Amino acid sequence: MNLELSEEQEAVRRLAEDFVAREVTPHAVAWDRAEEVDRAIVKKLGSVGFLGLTVPEEYGGSGGDHLAYCLVTEELGRGDSSVRGIVSVSLGLVAKTVATWGSEEQKREWLPRLASGEALGCFGLTEPGTGSDAGNLATRAVRDGDDYLVSGTKMFITNGTWAEVVLLFARTDDTPGHRGVSAFLVPTDSPGMTRRAIHGKLGLRGQATAELVLEDVRVPAAAMLGPEGKGFTVAMSALAKGRMSVAAGCVGIAQAALDAAVRYAGEREQFGKPIASYQLVQELISDIAVDVDAARLLTWRVADLIDRGQDFATAASKAKLYASEAAVRAANNALQVFGGYGYIDEYPVGKLLRDARVMTLYEGTSQIQKLIIGRALTGVSAF
Ligand SMILES: Cc1cc2nc3c(=O)[nH]c(=O)nc-3n(C[C@H](O)[C@H](O)[C@H](O)COP(=O)(O)OP(=O)(O)OC[C@H]3O[C@@H](n4cnc5c(N)ncnc54)[C@H](O)[C@@H]3O)c2cc1C
Repeated sequence: MNLELSEEQEAVRRLAEDFVAREVTPHAVAWDRAEEVDRAIVKKLGSVGFLGLTVPEEYGGSGGDHLAYCLVTEELGRGDSSVRGIVSVSLGLVAKTVATWGSEEQKREWLPRLASGEALGCFGLTEPGTGSDAGNLATRAVRDGDDYLVSGTKMFITNGTWAEVVLLFARTDDTPGHRGVSAFLVPTDSPGMTRRAIHGKLGLRGQATAELVLEDVRVPAAAMLGPEGKGFTVAMSALAKGRMSVAAGCVGIAQAALDAAVRYAGEREQFGKPIASYQLVQELISDIAVDVDAARLLTWRVADLIDRGQDFATAASKAKLYASEAAVRAANNALQVFGGYGYIDEYPVGKLLRDARVMTLYEGTSQIQKLIIGRALTGVSAF
């Protein structure tokens, strides 16, 4: 793998850096305090091409490679993880999955709208009773003529109150475990669906997170994504690529922590000298820097494997595991460099730590990533 960015990739990275400096960074603290990102950001993300970055051009996307996607995701994560998550979910988990598994009709119906930001997607897998054990979900889709009637509750759904469509996973037969699960594309204004915003999150406060309750929601059989009973395979294929995007967002958090720590250590003086001159402060900063590089290299490797059509799932779990833990460590180390000021939200590092904390939890906890990696190495499944 060539670690030097091509001119095109560097141009995409710079575009994202400029976008974040103009449209995200100036508002991030206010959005965090208000617990709401300005919804106008969705259209802006669409017009600059970020919501359709890896969607094929024939469906309204820009047909970019996965390294370009990592570069954009990293820059967005550097600016505000709440904004990064909007893209990771709508593009990474929903649009890309429609592009991979969808019928021609489904692709024509949803991809141009998702790529432009005219519509936003959300991913409905987790339920109140099933998080890590997602294959045991309880939401049911019962056949009724040419339709299904879907009932159940989905929990912690990113973009949930904003999205126009949910990629929803429901049980279409009573076979226990993941074999009875199918995937559906369901408009969120369907009669019988109610959405409740979840507030009080530790981090990602600006992001719209919701509980979705479905009561006999009528979904045409043509809205099934992928074959009947293969919904769990659809979900896992989405999450494997999604983990690369979370990892790239974590690199962005760690890079932001590094930038902030280096700047502050050079400005802040104690005992008559900048704190940057003290070796124990340099240790905190160098630990962050090593984490940034290691996390970025693991993440780029996943992009390279995907773009070359190689197996990438275990590499994606390694990158997600390492980068998410690294982002928490990096933000925590940066907060230490800031001393008491790091604890106040006028300074950036407290938010970085709060936003980083969820990364070891969603899209598969760190424990689940270790089990996936362990299964690949030993051939024995713990699930
Ligand atoms: C802000 C936020 C946004 C989210 N967005 C979405 C979304 O858009 N769509 C969606 O579907 N979900 C989403 N989620 C849900 C998220 O993916 C789940 O929270 C996550 O999968 C963990 O599930 P759980 O919370 O039920 O924890 P549990 O599965 O109950 O886990 C609790 C603890 O037990 C451990 N554990 C569980 N099983 C094992 C095991 N076999 N071996 C060892 N340890 C184990 C876990 O690692 C964890 O430490 C989101 C969550 C949050 C907080």
